[in-house]
Amino acid sequence: MDLNSLYSKLYTHFGPRGWWPGDSSYEHFIGCILAQNTRWDRVVPVIQRMKKKDILAPEKYLQLEHDDLAEILKGSGTYKRKAEYLRTAGAYMLSQGWNGTPGSVTTETQILRDELLKLKGIGPETCDCILLYVLGRPVFVVDAYTIRILSRHGFCTKKAEYEEIQELFHSGLTIEVELFKEYHALMVECAKQFCKPEPRCTDCPLREGNNNP
Ligand code: SF4
Repeated sequence: MDLNSLYSKLYTHFGPRGWWPGDSSYEHFIGCILAQNTRWDRVVPVIQRMKKKDILAPEKYLQLEHDDLAEILKGSGTYKRKAEYLRTAGAYMLSQGWNGTPGSVTTETQILRDELLKLKGIGPETCDCILLYVLGRPVFVVDAYTIRILSRHGFCTKKAEYEEIQELFHSGLTIEVELFKEYHALMVECAKQFCKPEPRCTDCPLREGNNNP
């Protein structure tokens, strides 16, 4: 099985995931940051709260004091720190001319990546979520679920570095934004339903011999 057939098996089983959830790039951006180490169902009410207050765009929430923004983020894990991350990353995005559309930022992807990674609270996974799902750049998002599935299928070791795994996808697939978006979402779904810490291989679409292409 190569990375293309792995994708086909997942897509055939789960169908399109339509990621990233949310109605606008502003929601995607906030979601990428708030989802760090936090279940998605705890992030959704916070985004709804921000939507109600009409402060999804960075130029709006940046007008709030840190403590006031933190109060609104309560429920999304380490909310005080996340308020800081959201403010720093939001200010950076504005400095790049971001207006909520991918086309509004023209800086080269590698430069954006290098600069985002220098910001407090932005690690590789969050950075690449922003690049892929918010700015539409063809950068594969690697997470713990991806590492678990790939290592169990012999693509890498459990201790493989983030960039090493990312390179597997970049060199093994057609470089395509929509494919990368869907692929990451499918990996998450597979890990949640089947490839848990204790794997449920019997019904998993990635099990050798299950009814897939
Ligand atoms: S649950 Fe089993 S078959 Fe499915 S991805 Fe994990 S190790 Fe592979």
